[in-house]
Amino acid sequence: MPQAILPILTNILVAAMFIGAFLVAAHTYPMVRRARWFALAYAFGVIEPLASLAIWLGGNVAVLQTVSFASFLTALVTMALAMSHYHDRRPMWASAALILIGGCIWRIATIEAPRDTVWYQLSFQSWFTLAAILCAVAMKRHAPPSRLNRCLALVYIVTALHFPMKAAFALRLGTGATERDYASTIYAAISQASSGLLIIASGLLVIASFLHSVVRATQTEALCDPLTGLPNRRALDRWLDDAQRTGPNPALSIAVIDVDHFKRFNDRFGHAVGDEVLRKVAACLERNRPSAGHAARVGGEEFVLLLPLDQRAAFLACESMRLAIAQLDYADTDPITVSIGMATMTVGEATSDLFRRADSALYRAKSAGRDRCEIDAADVAAALQNTPPALKLVPQY
Ligand code: GH3
Ligand code: MG
Ligand code: MG
Repeated sequence: MPQAILPILTNILVAAMFIGAFLVAAHTYPMVRRARWFALAYAFGVIEPLASLAIWLGGNVAVLQTVSFASFLTALVTMALAMSHYHDRRPMWASAALILIGGCIWRIATIEAPRDTVWYQLSFQSWFTLAAILCAVAMKRHAPPSRLNRCLALVYIVTALHFPMKAAFALRLGTGATERDYASTIYAAISQASSGLLIIASGLLVIASFLHSVVRATQTEALCDPLTGLPNRRALDRWLDDAQRTGPNPALSIAVIDVDHFKRFNDRFGHAVGDEVLRKVAACLERNRPSAGHAARVGGEEFVLLLPLDQRAAFLACESMRLAIAQLDYADTDPITVSIGMATMTVGEATSDLFRRADSALYRAKSAGRDRCEIDAADVAAALQNTPPALKLVPQY
């Protein structure tokens, strides 16, 4: 059996496995459904070793030679288009068409040309080099910068460089007296094996990039409240865990914010209006929170602000937030007001205790008539203790 047959068969199998993997990914995860483009690229790619096999088995050389060349070139060009399409950018259609049409015209024009000349080998490989460069350019222009994408761009650059090297090997080792002898040459074995390796490397990196997107999207989804787009309770718990590790460094206050009489919005204007009110409040919190702070939706109409501020600054931030929410007007609904309970972390305090203190301050705000911000009683007492006696009769805030 000719020595190139094994790598040819391996390439057919590997390409077929990647086609399967891309199709499975596209059908399993809607967010990577554009993976079908990569399956298409590999489907074109698998024709090349099949055509080489068919030539060896006695098929029509001129036709199969053209098919083999055109399919491999189409595979590389489709890969570049797939890359842009996957990243939701406009593919470089004109460059792709130029390379494809130019390559096919060259192939037909040189079908009878002597094979083992410098000109023939260099021009033969130059079309593949151009297509691989197009893949690298698509990566550079359209893929977001990441370590994975840089690796993939590097694989395309290596692929582009390996084609002229193939020309040098072809001239040195010979590509066979006729196309049918190609499969029996050492050059064919080296050429197929090197292409196979690059097919595997780029395919694996593309699949790794799918996984990366799916995992990142799942993580984002897990930490995000779908109604308002704000971080959810799970995200808040992570920030609180971080805060627990670092302590009030330099200061940390928490504000629990609850929309007043929210049930009335639902009852009088319908659930959809209630939802819109929640979105408006969430947007207002996100817009007005201090840049180093965090806002989260932790329950139905309950939100939390995490403020890296001491008691006085946090109270002012909460009050300005309360006034900003009171300014929101939404169609003909009642005014939107919120009650806020606030607590400031003490050294060594567990975040669950901090949260509980803010909650009880919220309860006091509700009992005192709503539309107000209350500081936890323990915090107020501590603040009063640190206040000079002469000022104790003056309201602090
Ligand atoms: P209070 O001033 O005492 O906080 O009164 P309230 O009406 O705001 O509080 P209550 O707990 O009685 O009602 C909260 C309502 O929020 C009940 C629930 O149907 C509604 N709710 C919870 N989640 C959602 C949601 O995602 N969308 C809408 N539209 N309503 C929600
Ligand atoms: Mg409420
Ligand atoms: Mg509530």
